[in-house]
Amino acid sequence: MADRKAAQTIAAAHGVAQDAAFGAVIPPIHLSTTFQFPGFERAGPYDYSRLGNPTRDQVADTIAKLEGGARAVMLASGMAALDLALSSLLPGDLLLAPHDCYGGTHRLLSLRSARGHYRVAFVDQTDREALSAAFAGKPKLVLTETPSNPLMRVVDIRDMAERARAVGARLVVDNTFLSPALQQPIALGADLVVHSTTKYLNGHSDVIGGAVVAAEAALGEELAAWANTIGVTGSPFDAYLTLRGIRTLFVRIERQERNAAAVAACLAAHPRVGRVYYPGLATHPGHETAKAQQSGFGAMLSFELTGGREAVRALVEALQVFTLAESLGGVESLIAHPATMTHAAMDPAARATAGITDGLLRLSIGLEAEDDLLRDLGRGLDAVARR
Ligand code: PLP
Repeated sequence: MADRKAAQTIAAAHGVAQDAAFGAVIPPIHLSTTFQFPGFERAGPYDYSRLGNPTRDQVADTIAKLEGGARAVMLASGMAALDLALSSLLPGDLLLAPHDCYGGTHRLLSLRSARGHYRVAFVDQTDREALSAAFAGKPKLVLTETPSNPLMRVVDIRDMAERARAVGARLVVDNTFLSPALQQPIALGADLVVHSTTKYLNGHSDVIGGAVVAAEAALGEELAAWANTIGVTGSPFDAYLTLRGIRTLFVRIERQERNAAAVAACLAAHPRVGRVYYPGLATHPGHETAKAQQSGFGAMLSFELTGGREAVRALVEALQVFTLAESLGGVESLIAHPATMTHAAMDPAARATAGITDGLLRLSIGLEAEDDLLRDLGRGLDAVARR
């Protein structure tokens, strides 16, 4: 595993000044779909870009190094990355998944299990008794999302890895909310790490992409071969932009986290705000676990607004700096209403079980001036009070 300083250098400079053709400092982009064979029955390092592409390999290698894994596969989206990471499951196999995962993940697992591709058990992974009962069902694969989307529940990765190992299951961790700058699940025992690179890794809200990082090379090769077979590898142009985003990952996330801590403290003190879900707050139930396994608390948080949907409407309509939009991890601050946006695909009963209420709002904190963010939320909360 790369230590933090080494990881910063990898993010900023891995692959820089390696161009043998022209001495380009920045790795060039290779958009060619196909590559010349040096001779009959003689293959070069690349033949066809669905299978392999130098630009995609450059970003994959950088992400693998940042995560401390052996091999990464770049996919067309985070959903493709999740589906690939779960592709070893066969009919009858049990997948243990978090009950409050990203809504698209919940939809993917529900539909695959409805079609008989595998069985899924959604469990509150912070509930030790529920977890023990679920592990008694002998899952083949365990999926963890920590912190979870949108309620920021923190799961002890080392504990999950030990439980998984004890039943011969693989552990997959969705590290989208923190990025390798703040959490490296492989060092804590995960077999696979999944990213929606759409979020912090790219960081500029202009690429949809995903990555799967394997701790072991053999599993990585297997997944790369399957990604080629089903045709879900990412585009070279997206890979180029994602690598460009990764160059500034550490400085972005550190600054975004500072803003998020200020926003969380401000919301926690506000009378119109119910609970604030931010692992950096000492009152958060996952605070100690987050401190132990993360190198920062990140820049995502959510909170309950008293007054339900109408209060939500008043708040979001008054905002001028935050944009009402899905997604997260970009340089700009976004606000989302999970019940009607990111988690609308979940059926209302599953949403209620997960704790996603109509008054819940999720914030992705960007790089704007802290004062502007606090003033904007103050404006929104004043509008709620004036209703
Ligand atoms: N995992 C998490 C935690 C997410 O929040 C998302 C999307 O919001 C995804 C996976 C899916 O990624 P994508 O939108 O790139 O397909």
